[in-house]
Amino acid sequence: MDPDSEFVFELQVCQWAELSWPPGRERTQPVLIARQLGTERRRWDTIIIECDPDALEARSRFGRERLDSDLLDVLRYAPDEWTWYRDALPDPGYPWRYVRESIHRAGDRGILETRTRGNRLQIRRRWAYPDWVDRIVAIENKPDFDASAARVLGEQLQRDVAVGLADEVWVATADGQERFERALLEDVPVEVGILLVDGADAEAIWQPRSLSPTEPGTRIEERPEGGTRDASAARFSYVDPDWKREKRLAIAERAYERGFRSYVDTMRPDCRHFELRDVPAGFLPYCGTKACHQTGSECRGGCPEYEPEPPTWRTRGWPIDGGPGAGIRRLLDRQRLRTRPGLEE
Ligand code: SF4
Repeated sequence: MDPDSEFVFELQVCQWAELSWPPGRERTQPVLIARQLGTERRRWDTIIIECDPDALEARSRFGRERLDSDLLDVLRYAPDEWTWYRDALPDPGYPWRYVRESIHRAGDRGILETRTRGNRLQIRRRWAYPDWVDRIVAIENKPDFDASAARVLGEQLQRDVAVGLADEVWVATADGQERFERALLEDVPVEVGILLVDGADAEAIWQPRSLSPTEPGTRIEERPEGGTRDASAARFSYVDPDWKREKRLAIAERAYERGFRSYVDTMRPDCRHFELRDVPAGFLPYCGTKACHQTGSECRGGCPEYEPEPPTWRTRGWPIDGGPGAGIRRLLDRQRLRTRPGLEE
C-alpha cells in the first residue's frame, strides 16, 4: 500500500470498524460504517453508527435510500388513521406546497399511504419510523500524524468536542507510536480517543470521553491570533440540541444509504485494470497497471491508463454476468446489504 494514501487508509479503518468495532470490547449491537459524512461545516472521514438491532431491521421497511429531512418531517408525524395532512402535521414554517411534494414523494416510494377526499389530500402511516440510531462515533483518519498535522487537527478536534454532535470523537493513525506520542500530549484534546491502526488490527491507546449530543453545544466561530491557549478574544455561538438531533439523523440516514463502499461509484471498476485485492482488512481497490492501491481521484474517467473492459468479458466467455466491472459493483453492494438486515438485493 502506498503509505501516503489517506484514501486507502480510510478504507482500512472502515473495514476494521465494520469487523471489530468497538476496540477491545465485545460488540453488543450492530454498526453501520460510512465515510466522508458530516454537516455543511464539518465532514468526518469515518462514521460509525451504533444501532438498536430491532429498530435497524424496522428501518429497512423504508427502503435502502436515505430519508431526507423533508420526508422525515412527514413520516414521523403521519397518523394511524386517514387525516387531512394539515391536521396531521405540525406547521412546517415554510409553504405547505413543499410539504405536499414530500407527501407525494413518500407515496411514490410506497412508505406512506395517500388519498384525496373532497379535494383534500389525506395521509396515513404505513409504519412508525423507528428510533434506530443509538450512538454516532466520528473518526478523523491521519495515517501520517506528525506534529504539524496534530497542530492543525487539534484545533478542529477542539471544535468537534465543543459542538458535541457525535457521541465520541477519535483520531486513527497508522501504527508508529514514537512519532505520535509527542503530538498526542501537546495538541489532541483529552476528550478525543486515539486509535493505532495496523491493517486489520487496531489498538485504542487513549479512550475518549463521551460527549453530550442531547445537550446544547458551543460553536467556536473565531479564534484569537495568539494561539489555542489564548481564548480572550474567541467568538462562540450556541448550538441548539434540536439542530443536533436533526443533523445526527440526517448523517445516520446518509450512512444507511451509502455505507463506505460507495467509493466504487466514482471509480472505474469497468476499467480492465481495476481489481479488488483481498487484504487482511478486507477488499481494497487495486490498479493492475499502476501496481498500487489507487486513490479515488486517480481512478476516474480522465485516467490516462484507463482501458475499457473488452466486450467479450461482458458476454460469452466471462463467468460473471455483465463482466467483472459489474460483478465488482454487485459484490460490494452485497457486502453493504449484509449490515442492513431486512433489505433485499
Ligand atoms: S488504469 Fe486508471 S482507471 Fe484503470 S484501474 Fe487503474 S487508476 Fe483506475
